[in-house]
Formats: sequence, C-alpha cells, structure tokens
Amino acid sequence: MRILLVEDEPKMAELIRRVLVAERHVVDRAGDAVGALSLATAAESVPYDLLVLDRMLPDLDGLDLLRMLRTRGIRTPALMLTALGGVEDRVAGLDAGADDYLAKPFAFAELLARVRALGRRATAPPAPRLAAGDLELDEERHVARVGEGSVDLSAREFALLAYLIRNEGRVVTRQQALDAVWGAEPDVYSNVVDLYVSYIRKKLAELGSTTGVRTVRGVGYALRTDA
Ligand code: CA
Repeated sequence: MRILLVEDEPKMAELIRRVLVAERHVVDRAGDAVGALSLATAAESVPYDLLVLDRMLPDLDGLDLLRMLRTRGIRTPALMLTALGGVEDRVAGLDAGADDYLAKPFAFAELLARVRALGRRATAPPAPRLAAGDLELDEERHVARVGEGSVDLSAREFALLAYLIRNEGRVVTRQQALDAVWGAEPDVYSNVVDLYVSYIRKKLAELGSTTGVRTVRGVGYALRTDA
C-alpha cells in the first residue's frame, strides 16, 4: 500500500517507516500538518491507501488535520496514533473521521495488524491513469506510450517512471525512489536509481517524448514535461 505517515518525532517516524517498508509498503512521511496536507492533496489524483496520523503535531491537532483532509474529499482510511488513550479521546478520533485508533506506546506487531485490517477494508480504487505531458503508461502491458508509438519497460523501469509521474511537480530523492521501487531489498546501492533513470531516459528519447527526467543536483530527480 501507499501510506502517508504523519509523525513529528523523527526517531518514532523512522521506526514506523522501516517497519512498514519491511512489509513492502511505500511510505511518504510528513513531520507536520502543513507537510501532510501538501502531500495528501498533491497525491489527489493517486490517493494514498492509508493515512497513519500522529495526534500531537507541532502545528495542529492530528484530529483537525484529519477533519481538513475529510473536508477536501480525501476518504483514505486513517489510523490515528496517540499518547491519549482515554475513551473520550478515542471517541473524538472516530468522530473526526479516523477508522482506527492506536494508543502509544504500541507494539509494532499491533500497528502492522491494524494496517493490514484497514488495507483489507479499503475498497480498491479504480486504477488511476498514469500520464504526464505527452507520455502515458500502460500498467497492464508495462509500456510507455506517446501517441501511436510505444516502448516496453522492465518492471523496475516501469515502477520508477510511475513513481516519478505520481510525484509530478515534486523532486524525488534517491532514497525515496529506492524505498518506493526497491523497497526493503537488501544490498541495493542508491546509484541503482541513477542507472535506471539513464535507462528510462534512453527509452523516452527512443519514443521521441517531450516528457523527461530532470536531474536536481544534490537532491534527486523530477519529472520534466514540456507542456
Ligand atoms: Ca507527536
């Protein structure tokens, strides 16, 4: 699943992220409500499958964040994390639109069990169209298309290009690309991303696409559309 994790404590966030990534989830992380809103709304065309929200954020109560997301039509299931485990707090969380509630401290096994349960509950959304500029990806055939022309992509090329398209308008770091495409695979070096970007560029050039992958020096990559 694609999961948006909103947690301000870096250590806790990193632990949760690792546990989720080890279960093959793709995790984006925000440290505050502002960051979460921008990620969740940028991902509107390809919604997250699950939100994991800490209640105590530096800029907003996690419940208010959830209300704002719900107001914007984001129906993604939400698991609320909180140090407040009282009945009233649980009720407030559920009233705000949370689908489940987990009190800190929790065991990671329980977190994963709840994530699985919410994943089962979530209705599978229709496959989103993956397109940017003149370029379109066909998920069934694993090809990239421009007009009538098409080129075959390997599984990794497809996953990386799809990830860049889903993050159109944002810079993707090598680490994010690694986490998203290679997941918890051990012994993968970050320059594998550079290698695959070079493969993708070659194929897009073959296609004559005006959409490409831009290098953002010292940071990572971003999709470039000449539209
Ligand atoms: Ca917190």
